[in-house]
Amino acid sequence: MKRSASSPTPDAALIVVGAGPAGLMAALQAAWHGSEVLLLDANPAPGRKLLVTGSGRCNLTNAGVAAERYISSSGSPTWLQTMLQRFGRPELLQTLEEIGLLTFATPDGWYYPRSQSAQAVVEAFGAALHQAGVRQRMSARLNDLHPTAHGFALHLEDGTTLHCSRLILAPGGKAYPALGSRGDCLPLLQALGHSLLPVYPALAPVLTDPRPLHKLQGLRFDVGATLYQGETVLTRTFGNLIVTEWGLNGPAVMDLSHAISTRPGQALTLSLDLLPGTLGQDFERLLQRKPLQSTPLRVLLGTLLPPKATPMLLERAGLPLNATYSQLSAAALQRLRDSLHNIALEVRGVRGFEYAQVSTGGVPLSEVDPQSMQSTLHPGLFLAGEVLDVTGPCGGYNLQFAFSSGAIAGQAAAA
Ligand SMILES: Cc1cc2nc3c(=O)[nH]c(=O)nc-3n(C[C@H](O)[C@H](O)[C@H](O)COP(=O)(O)OP(=O)(O)OC[C@H]3O[C@@H](n4cnc5c(N)ncnc54)[C@H](O)[C@@H]3O)c2cc1C
Repeated sequence: MKRSASSPTPDAALIVVGAGPAGLMAALQAAWHGSEVLLLDANPAPGRKLLVTGSGRCNLTNAGVAAERYISSSGSPTWLQTMLQRFGRPELLQTLEEIGLLTFATPDGWYYPRSQSAQAVVEAFGAALHQAGVRQRMSARLNDLHPTAHGFALHLEDGTTLHCSRLILAPGGKAYPALGSRGDCLPLLQALGHSLLPVYPALAPVLTDPRPLHKLQGLRFDVGATLYQGETVLTRTFGNLIVTEWGLNGPAVMDLSHAISTRPGQALTLSLDLLPGTLGQDFERLLQRKPLQSTPLRVLLGTLLPPKATPMLLERAGLPLNATYSQLSAAALQRLRDSLHNIALEVRGVRGFEYAQVSTGGVPLSEVDPQSMQSTLHPGLFLAGEVLDVTGPCGGYNLQFAFSSGAIAGQAAAA
């Protein structure tokens, strides 16, 4: 796209589009680093999606944050390492404390605000932005964008045009469009010459044949999940699972949903292990105890799994409800182990963007400098957050990426 010759007075030195976690952090860091900043969002108020994160508790980051926990088809292995070294979990926690937000980690390393309130996070950012002098323009949707001789011209849905010298785009992806991110900035970036990787739902509930598990509807438990294409293992996860009338929900399946959504129409199978890892070992240990070998298996399994699940598992193995270990033939024991460790389900897809926590795809990382988040195509244009081709698992990884990329973009755009 050609740069126009006009050079009107900028409405702000730096405009940040998107007041999600990436844009809020970018605006704050840019202002702290001396830039005059205008923050725009299509929503009437900043941080709409942040408010619903972590079921309103806002899972901010994770003790396990590391480059290899993220999925991206477009970055070199060092891209994420470079950006996380620049602004990773320690820098995020320190920044949050600077704006008054203390945090704590659960025993499995998921970080939340002390108040366990996403509202507190949004309010702390709001107060910090106000103190830093960031101007805000809400209910302002960016419709079009073009480079000018001295920066960028932004055309808003209400007909206004704004000019700036530098621009940070943090408009999110396509997940949860009701909260503002509809992917409408992706074609604008494409018009500026950026390539776009196809955008699919990720961290989404998975649609499966509901029949094999219909008796477990409403139950929650930890499982191991393995996604197969034929005999090939595509990915394995471990986590909490919720059985629903249409399929499965919870981190165990959300964490592999990208491997389903990016293969539309392909035949995939999901295998669930209801006694994964040490749980399976615990069960085998119980079976080796002589006095327990005449205790009904239903009772023993009920100490490890929701009791409602055990009749269905015994039935699947073709065993009577009161079967005991001492009564089992070798073949029956094998059927029981299969029933516990390998429940195979036909995959029918994932639920749509409306139900997905994030989207995969977007702008390839190879078109953004990880030291600054500056576009390699347009000096003065910076990209942050979910608009980029990065997806993390459940557990605070995606907010960490949004905050990290936003902070780096804000600091670099102010420099
Ligand atoms: C229900 C739910 C729960 C989640 N829980 C967690 C969690 O606990 N931990 C975690 O790590 N992640 C969680 N996530 C994911 C996390 O919310 C996202 O990774 C994160 O919000 C992405 O940040 P972002 O700033 O890039 O985009 P967004 O948060 O989507 O913000 C983008 C902003 O840009 C604005 N915008 C978009 N287009 C335009 C336009 N054209 N003009 C003007 N403004 C525009 C939007 O209105 C929006 O406010 C959750 C997501 C959902 C949906």
